[in-house]
Amino acid sequence: MTSPETPTCSAKGCRDAAVWVLAWNNPKLHAPERRKTWLACAEHREHLSQFLGVRGFLKDVVRLDEWVQPEGSERERP
Ligand SMILES: [Zn+2]
Repeated sequence: MTSPETPTCSAKGCRDAAVWVLAWNNPKLHAPERRKTWLACAEHREHLSQFLGVRGFLKDVVRLDEWVQPEGSERERP
């Protein structure tokens, strides 16, 4: 069950509740300390991590309930 307040997975077409936060940074576009975040359900964590990982963007994968949004970072859907 999800509600409008429940963060959902960033994977395309997925409406599952997010469990993981993927923090990433594109060094060509962002200052090194800046973090963009995607959210992932248990099923899509691997897929989204790989997508970012092969590009060298992935910095951190943290459980949503342990995630503290760094100042200046943004949440974004792919
Ligand atoms: Zn998902």
